[in-house]
Amino acid sequence: MTIGPVVIIGAGHAGYQLAASLRQHGLSERIALVNDESHLPYQRPPLSKAYLKGTGGPDSLMFRPEKFYSDQKIDLISDRAVSIDRAARKVALASGASLDYGHLVLATGARNRLLDIPNANLDSVRYLRTLDESQSLRDYITAGQRVVVIGAGFIGLEFAATARAKGLEVDVVELAPRVMARAVTAEISEYFQSRHTAAGIRIHLGVQVTSIESDGSKVTGVSLSDGRHIKADLIVVGVGVLPNVELAAEAGLKVAAGIIVDENLLTADPNISAMGDCALYASPRFGGSLRLESVQNATDHARCIAARLTGDAKAYDGVPWFWSDQGPDKLQMVGLTTGYDRVVVRGDREKGAFSVFCYKEGQLVGIESVNRAGDHMFGRRLLAAHGSITPEQAADANFDLKSALT
Ligand SMILES: Cc1cc2nc3c(=O)[nH]c(=O)nc-3n(C[C@H](O)[C@H](O)[C@H](O)COP(=O)(O)OP(=O)(O)OC[C@H]3O[C@@H](n4cnc5c(N)ncnc54)[C@H](O)[C@@H]3O)c2cc1C
Repeated sequence: MTIGPVVIIGAGHAGYQLAASLRQHGLSERIALVNDESHLPYQRPPLSKAYLKGTGGPDSLMFRPEKFYSDQKIDLISDRAVSIDRAARKVALASGASLDYGHLVLATGARNRLLDIPNANLDSVRYLRTLDESQSLRDYITAGQRVVVIGAGFIGLEFAATARAKGLEVDVVELAPRVMARAVTAEISEYFQSRHTAAGIRIHLGVQVTSIESDGSKVTGVSLSDGRHIKADLIVVGVGVLPNVELAAEAGLKVAAGIIVDENLLTADPNISAMGDCALYASPRFGGSLRLESVQNATDHARCIAARLTGDAKAYDGVPWFWSDQGPDKLQMVGLTTGYDRVVVRGDREKGAFSVFCYKEGQLVGIESVNRAGDHMFGRRLLAAHGSITPEQAADANFDLKSALT
């Protein structure tokens, strides 16, 4: 089977993995990996964790050195894709060049949702998605500065914990009534709120930043919707991302909260797939459509497409998992916990090592673990096999989880 040249737009976790997996599967066609960031393909999670703390240089983030791409005959093209001509199977690049494709894969990821209030464009209002943004924050932050973090999601809290450990004064402002409210159970929110508060981070819930004050050039503080003011030298915004769907939409592909693909991660055009953060995929496992933002989702999508393009098509059936490092605590999540109706705690919250088992109609749908890697790994294996244990078993400290895997 010849599919012709494969062009991948975006060299994040998904794009890099697809190129590498296609070669592992023995594809001999041309592979062009187009990216608009001026770095070799790199990992994002450390940007709000170890890298921000000051561990390692940019090279420590790269998936592979440059030689890997030349050895594997993967053409890394530093450019921006600006349009797709589906009839001619061509991608136009910002430089004026164009690429012919047999199969095109959109791995355009997501971009920061920007704050839409006056003064949001000041230099001391920062975001955290790219290596350049992390590097410039890492160089900028010093002990004693006052930072307001807008948004108590994973990235906001990871940044807050790192900044506090570096001696900054940290306030976190969140509109929802609890931290990470959209992603985790109340048990996990409460635990992390208390840990961050104990570390000296002030968390303001149920309020939003209504304005940013400045002295003309620099941030001096923020006003909150409840009338309070907080002094600040720096603002870090973590209010979520928007999937990069415009290239697909302009080419006439269907988009909604992501580029719409079927269970094989294929768009309505049989020559175009989409994967990773930008893809809204039909999930037979969960029913309905999902768009997830995680390394697991991006890399497993890529492996699924690589298999299909080399002759082994299977519907995507990955079990979602995710992690977040906040201060000394590691949170790991597996499954999809939306819509759970019962939770069971296993382990010891006081000792900071516990898991929340989430149930929907008696079926285990996900596990959130704090410093309990064994529970997380158990959940990954059990849920991959569509297994479950009863809430009573989960609650019983003497129940051997491994016995449920055999
Ligand atoms: C700070 C941070 C911490 C994170 N921590 C975790 C974590 O702990 N655990 C976890 O599971 N996930 C984490 N994530 C999420 C994870 O990194 C993303 O889900 C993952 O990067 C998605 O990969 P992707 O390849 O789909 O998209 P991206 O990584 O966004 O890559 C897409 C690339 O495509 C480029 N691009 C877009 N449009 C074009 C175009 N038209 N032409 C050329 N190039 C284009 C973009 O510039 C980008 O480089 C974190 C993310 C961030 C930002």
